[in-house]
Amino acid sequence: MIIMKFGGSSLANAERIRHVVDIIKMHIDEKPLIVASAMGDTTDNLLEAVDRALSGKVCIKEIRKLHLATAEELEVNTDAIKELFDELKNLLSGISLIKEFSPRTKDYLVSFGERLSVRIVAGYLNRIGLEAKFFDAWDIGFTSTAVHNDGEILDESFAKINESLGHLENNYAFTPIITGFIAKNKNGNITTLGRGGSDLTASVLGAALHAKEIQVWKDVDGILTTDPRIVKHAQPVKNISFEEATELAYFGAKVLHPRSIVPAMSRKIPVRVKNSYNPTHPGTLILSRLDDKDEMLRVLTFKKNVTVVDIVSTRMLGQYGFLAKVFQIFDEQKISVDMLATSEVSISVTLDNKGNGIEGLKSELEKIANVNIKTGKTMITMVGNVKRSSEILERTFDVLNAGNINVQMISQGASKVNISFIIDDDEADPCIRELHKAFFENDR
Ligand code: ADP
Ligand code: ASP
Ligand code: MG
Repeated sequence: MIIMKFGGSSLANAERIRHVVDIIKMHIDEKPLIVASAMGDTTDNLLEAVDRALSGKVCIKEIRKLHLATAEELEVNTDAIKELFDELKNLLSGISLIKEFSPRTKDYLVSFGERLSVRIVAGYLNRIGLEAKFFDAWDIGFTSTAVHNDGEILDESFAKINESLGHLENNYAFTPIITGFIAKNKNGNITTLGRGGSDLTASVLGAALHAKEIQVWKDVDGILTTDPRIVKHAQPVKNISFEEATELAYFGAKVLHPRSIVPAMSRKIPVRVKNSYNPTHPGTLILSRLDDKDEMLRVLTFKKNVTVVDIVSTRMLGQYGFLAKVFQIFDEQKISVDMLATSEVSISVTLDNKGNGIEGLKSELEKIANVNIKTGKTMITMVGNVKRSSEILERTFDVLNAGNINVQMISQGASKVNISFIIDDDEADPCIRELHKAFFENDR
């Protein structure tokens, strides 16, 4: 069997759903299990509906219109989705009444997008005579950690998923359509896997069922050499290793959820990133082993709006005690670090938590160090063959020099597939374009 995951842009309207169903039909002999995201921008629209509810206005007009129009155009019975609209409206009325929006309520609220979507896709498949069943992920064993908004799938889910759907391998009686992105925790509350989490759902499902392949269908021809919103002519990458894919997702490439590769990697299940708008394009194949290791750079990625914290020891503690104390403070403040550079008396780190808790961190660190916090930075990461790091760095610094751009921090990951450096946000776009030119747009 194979897993086919379709993102929001692949399911934006009735026409796109028809295309998706054509793609599913082409793969029907491979016994596909389908993971669906919310339609189009529904997750964002749900979050906007909350902002309105908090200021006293309950309105789900846009969400209702998109889903009803789609279901009607596809001639799907609308009872199941209307029930969800009622539940959603009640929830928003509650929020507007008590003017409170907890992380738990947020997860419950955004879950409506995926729940609506699977009901429409399954309804349409059945209507055209292809037997399908929709599942909310918790019905088939997706249990996550109790942490809200960005939960992990618990190990015990793998066996439960196998129990629920493993039998389809030998007796494929219907096409399962499963909600991406959501799960329940052990207390029975709905949780999510973080934005873009449907990729992770697909990977967990593939790993649990030992699928032959996990296909992630998007609106681009695979993983591209960089973000096409910055470099329009970015090119698809044919093959990439699990390790490289993990790093590029973690270091900001929006194309994959940061933790989505891990389950597939642990069972060596190939992941293919495909374009539902261009289904004959081969896309990108993510594999455990690559034979074109000679390639210097595979992908250029970046994270904007990063905070850098420079921590310089006041020498109250010895070097060993200083490092230990600094990391103890990060641990106590529950702030995780992305990138790190140290010297004997100073440490620079970047933070990925959008500044949450930074004041508490600063006041604790100031007990042992001088602390300087700098915001508005961009971390650029070069993912590729770090065995050739000197060549990569030489070419990179040529570009930076020519553009008069100063690197403020640099680090080479121990995984040997990435080099990251920090520059100012306002230098980021031109820098990415020039680096892309230097690495991917000439025949050097
Ligand atoms: P979906 O939600 O349909 O699964 P996403 O929107 O999450 O898909 O991811 C696809 C988008 O990621 C693309 O439309 C593109 O704009 C963006 N993107 C950013 N960096 C890259 C990259 N290196 N390669 C491909 N797409 C990228
Ligand atoms: N619908 C969710 C989001 O927009 C999950 C996903 O698309 O994977 O983040
Ligand atoms: Mg996504």
